[in-house]
Amino acid sequence: VSVESEFKLIDRFTRCFPKVPAPWGPGDDCAVLPPSRFASCVTTDAVLEGVHFTQEHFTLEDIGYKALAVNLSDLAAMGATPSWFLCSLELPRETTEAQVVSLGKGMAKLARRTGINLVGGNVTSAKTLGLSLTVAGEIRRGSPLLRSGARRGDFLFVSGHLGGAARGLELLQTQKRSTGPAARAIQRQKRPTPRLALGKLLQPWATACMDLSDGLVQDLSHLCTASKVGATVRMDSLPLDPALSGLSRDHQLRLALAGGEDYELLFSVPPRLASRVERACKAAGETITRVGVISRGGLHWEGSGTDPASATGGFDHFRRTGAGGRARRP
Ligand SMILES: [Mg+2]
Repeated sequence: VSVESEFKLIDRFTRCFPKVPAPWGPGDDCAVLPPSRFASCVTTDAVLEGVHFTQEHFTLEDIGYKALAVNLSDLAAMGATPSWFLCSLELPRETTEAQVVSLGKGMAKLARRTGINLVGGNVTSAKTLGLSLTVAGEIRRGSPLLRSGARRGDFLFVSGHLGGAARGLELLQTQKRSTGPAARAIQRQKRPTPRLALGKLLQPWATACMDLSDGLVQDLSHLCTASKVGATVRMDSLPLDPALSGLSRDHQLRLALAGGEDYELLFSVPPRLASRVERACKAAGETITRVGVISRGGLHWEGSGTDPASATGGFDHFRRTGAGGRARRP
């Protein structure tokens, strides 16, 4: 990317997004942020070609969409309302304006839907395509959901279905033409839905919450470590994605527990609040499933038929071989 075209590319990219009134929006040396009386949640994440996606399986619009979605999912996990984000593009030399507009279009679609404003960013040339985003949200009431609040006896829930995104990646890689649940799994892989409304709904009730980016085995262990507790998960209660039906039990569990990228929420609720939360979610059209209970220590996978330790080893192997897959997120 040459210096002159750099400015043009920035302009083409930012024009994909709703205009933010000066001096708040992009165009100055810094973004100016409006004063807020709410606490801010800020997170950053990068998606890189060859690590998180390949252009063989993802369109540029998909890539732009997903880069923002994975960041918004972290805001959802805190119960935050999206407010602004910065976007840095790393573009290979041969990148065209049309390609930059495609990235912007995909990203702007989700930005508009979730009410988040692009306030600034950067463009630099690089060997491969990469997008680094910093997103911020506000905690409009109460305090943010943390990973550290789970208490022994709390019920453990997950939202939506598990394993769909990983199955979607398998289907993309095997080039199978897909319809129905399989096509929806591919869509989940390409354009995950950050559970923003659910995060806000849970904010007054849940004792701990995080989003499922790495898979239940890994992410539950993070939540338990942060809360200094253990958990027992009932394997037959896991809400498997419909696209997993027909696969071997082993394959299903591998995808659901360690496939990652479902971007659902994992959260704990005190038993006395559980039915209220379930009713509120039902009324809001949010699917949640009770999958286990928080315990004193250690992770127990009831009825897995697989040794969890060896299973996790297998899952790690799976994760690394997922070309077009993903790297560990902090
Ligand atoms: Mg996260």
